[in-house]
Amino acid sequence: MCRHLAYLGPPIPLSRLLFDAPHGLSHQSWAPRDMRGGGTINADGFGLGWFPGPVVYRSARPLWTDPSLPALASATSSGAVLAAVRSATVGMPVTESAAAPFTSGSWLFSHNGRVAGWPDSVAALASELPVRDLITLDAPTDSALLWALVRARLRAGSSLSDAVSSVVTSVAAAAPGSRLNLLLTDGRSIAASVYGHALSVRAAPDGGVLVASEPLDDDPGWRAVPDFSLLVADLSAVHITEGAFS
Ligand code: GLN
Repeated sequence: MCRHLAYLGPPIPLSRLLFDAPHGLSHQSWAPRDMRGGGTINADGFGLGWFPGPVVYRSARPLWTDPSLPALASATSSGAVLAAVRSATVGMPVTESAAAPFTSGSWLFSHNGRVAGWPDSVAALASELPVRDLITLDAPTDSALLWALVRARLRAGSSLSDAVSSVVTSVAAAAPGSRLNLLLTDGRSIAASVYGHALSVRAAPDGGVLVASEPLDDDPGWRAVPDFSLLVADLSAVHITEGAFS
């Protein structure tokens, strides 16, 4: 499963997203509500990325067992955050480097789901990448390869939303049955795909926007984003393209 979120808005302490919200990322790591796709808890690592930077803090341990995290998260405020908790797909290693966010330059990326038929189903797509990208993958996982594919498109000049939608479209064609909820930010805007897993969005009255696998609280402003949609958000607007991948 995995759960992820991205926030843009007025700077807030990271603890607001992780610990203070009633169903914040810490709660979602041991008591997620939407278990489609298998798994029961998200205990195979976690990661936080925030701007300016981006600065990334990742770990292979369950989020709630990191004794340094509550103080770090209270003391660190940011107006642009991407965070994730991981439930490793069977057969994939549990290492810090396999936990999102994956980062390069000013980008932060996360994947919730799995590539069906991994790795053979996406061999042809992988072979489009420079060999250097393949031998320097963060980890031997589907998510790390998806990140390399997204990053290659970004480096070639694609917008965030084009990079996400082109990778979802090509991987879905090569590996039918995959679950491909991708989440990408550059600190100014967010692009996310909904493809087989849940995603919700809330535009906060203070001008912030929060995109998360599961709503963090009971605020009536949360909206579930339909499956097969592409979401693009920044501080001025949230656009949802329904049916982008159907
Ligand atoms: N397949 C990815 C991994 O193992 C993501 C897992 C997930 O979404 N549960 O890292």
